[in-house]
Parts: sequence; structure tokens; C-alpha cells
Amino acid sequence: MIDSIRSLAQGLAQETIETRRDFHRHPEIAFEEVRTARIIAERLTALGLEAKTGIGKTGVMAILDSGKAGKTVLARADIDALPVQEENEHEYRSTIDGKMHACGHDGHTAILLSVAKILVGQKDNFTGKVVFVFQPAEEGAGGAQAMIDDGALDGLTVDHSIGLHLGSMMPTGAVALRCGPAMASADKFEIIVTGKGGHAAMPQHSIDPVLISANIIVALQSLVSRELDPTDQAVITVTSIHGGTAFNIIPDNVQLKGTLRTFNEETRQNLAKRIAELSSGIAASMNGKSECDFTFGTPTVINNDKMTKLLKKTFEKDLAEGQVIEAPQIMGGDDMAHWLNAADGCYFFVGAGNEAKGTNYPHHHPKFDVDEDAIPLAVELFTKGILEFLA
Ligand SMILES: [Zn+2]
Ligand SMILES: [Zn+2]
Repeated sequence: MIDSIRSLAQGLAQETIETRRDFHRHPEIAFEEVRTARIIAERLTALGLEAKTGIGKTGVMAILDSGKAGKTVLARADIDALPVQEENEHEYRSTIDGKMHACGHDGHTAILLSVAKILVGQKDNFTGKVVFVFQPAEEGAGGAQAMIDDGALDGLTVDHSIGLHLGSMMPTGAVALRCGPAMASADKFEIIVTGKGGHAAMPQHSIDPVLISANIIVALQSLVSRELDPTDQAVITVTSIHGGTAFNIIPDNVQLKGTLRTFNEETRQNLAKRIAELSSGIAASMNGKSECDFTFGTPTVINNDKMTKLLKKTFEKDLAEGQVIEAPQIMGGDDMAHWLNAADGCYFFVGAGNEAKGTNYPHHHPKFDVDEDAIPLAVELFTKGILEFLA
């Protein structure tokens, strides 16, 4: 049975790749995945499944019930593209200006559709239910949370969650998993530093928010280097600074924006608090004021130890020695975190980087692409993973 999954996935290779290319030609960004959602729903309906659309605006779900009592496994694919102008020249390049599948979610969508097709055919060979989740707006726009808020999990008792990400930074054929915290939480902050505007030549009559901001930016870097346990990990990056209009005017205020990434919830809460305290403390000491608006974004992606080990063992059974590797911890975030918080499971990576084919550009790059040879393997492993979690 397991071996036949490989041949079924291989048999669907061409179809999966064609589907992926179609999504690639027609990218839709966060919460605008109308065409993508329509095609997903059509495909699921054609498989005899009841597709529920409009969950979290553009999310689609379907449940495959084996008719036999058992576990419920949630299988998730993200479906959104990015506001990137594609610079590839291949025939399936984006036909929409300024939008591109630059993270591989076109692949994820096509892969999960083929997984659904295989599992529908294997219905007699497993027990329980599979919940297929096609999630919009993974790229920083809160699609998972939107689906959950819209009732995606209502009335369901999900035992395990599973998902995959194609990775251009790993060679085609490599499969990577990691127990525990695998991807960082991704939060944002905005700091408004208020001083008192005036003449640049007479600073004694002003409170200079530019100088206060400069001190805040430098001091924020001391949080990670001086307040964090050196064996723990976090990054604070100030990415935006706006203030002032002219060379001879001290402005009233300056606006800073930035992000906090970490793997540990306690560290996250503490640093969020310290970013606000430190900036307002520095501003106060310089006679100004600072207000920090901190927005908690995607939590840490945490892979359940037991489920991850189980998946690793399952994958290793049919793959070559050394093909399954330990994934590095990634400071980037992914809102798969919410599905894993709802039910113990694993988010794993399938390598799709191939220098000879030019598919080794980083994710979100205008020349990003995936080696399509990775796609049948991804279908095979995703299917086997779901079956293993159901068993
Ligand atoms: Zn991305
Ligand atoms: Zn992604």
C-alpha cells in the first residue's frame, strides 16, 4: 500500500505540475484568492467532496470521511501569492503585473489537491477523517487566524495537523524535519517618539525626537545582546524610520517600525514588554515621550516531538540514506503555527532547490522558482504522512 502511494503520486506528477503552473500564471495575494479558491473548490467537488468556500474570506475546506471511526487529521496548504514583480522568463511566469507566487504556495496548493485525489481513491484503506484546509493569506496577513475565527474548526475534533513547505534553499530530494520550535514567532511594533519641534539652530527650545529615536534604535539592540540568555535566540530589527521635513526644522515626532522574532513564548512576552519600557524610558530621560504599539503576529511553529519522530521514521522507510535531514531553525514565521497549536502535528520541508535549473533563489525573490521534480515526492510524503497520522 505504501509503495503504491509512490506510484500514485508519480502517476499524478504531470497533472500536479500543470495545476501548479496554472496557479503560477494567475497569482492572487492575501485574501484576494478568488480564482484560486474557485478552482480548488471545483477540483474538490469533482472528487466527490463537499467543498466549503469563503471561510476566512477566501479559504476552502473539505472533509474526506472514510466512514469508519478513527482519528481526524487536518492537512493544510497555503494558497496566496506575493506582491512581487516576477523576473523569470519561463512560459508559466506570472501574467499579472506586480504579483507572483514567490514562495511556492502555488506548489503547495497543487500538491494538496493531488493528495486529496489519491486519498479519495484510498478511502477503503484507512479509518477516520481527513480535513483538507486551503488557507489564504499566509504571507503576514493572518489567513489561518481568519479561518479559525470564521469557524474552520467548529464542530471538529482534530487529532493531528500536518503541512509542508517547498524550500529553494534545500536541494531537490532532501526532506527536512525538526522537533520542537521550528520557525520563529513574527511580531511587529510601531513606536511614536514625540518631542517638541522648533528651529534646528536653537535646539535648547526644542525636544529633538530624531536624537531620541537614534538612542532608542541603538538601545533596542542591547535587549538581545544583554538581556537574553545567550543560548536563547531572538532578533529585533528596526526596519522603518520616518520624521522631519527639512534640514533646518526639528520635527515634532518620529515614527519607527520594526519586528521581533523568537522561538520561546516567555522570551517573546518579555521582549515585547522591554521594547516598550526601554523606548519610553529613553524618551522620558531626554524630556520626550514614546508610545509603543506592539502587535503580536504569528506564534512560533512548534512541531510535536512524537508526531515529528513518527513522520521521520515513516519517510526514512522509503527514502535513501541521508535524504531525510534535520531542518535548521528558521527565524522566518509561518501561520501554520495556529493549526499546530490546535492539534499536535508537524510542518516539514521538501527541498526544491536546483542550481542547474536556477531554482535556488531565496523565497520572495523575483527569480524564485521551485524544481518541479520535487513535486511528486512532496505529494507522496504528504499522503504517507496523513495516513501515518490516521493510523
Ligand atoms: Zn513566504
Ligand atoms: Zn511560504
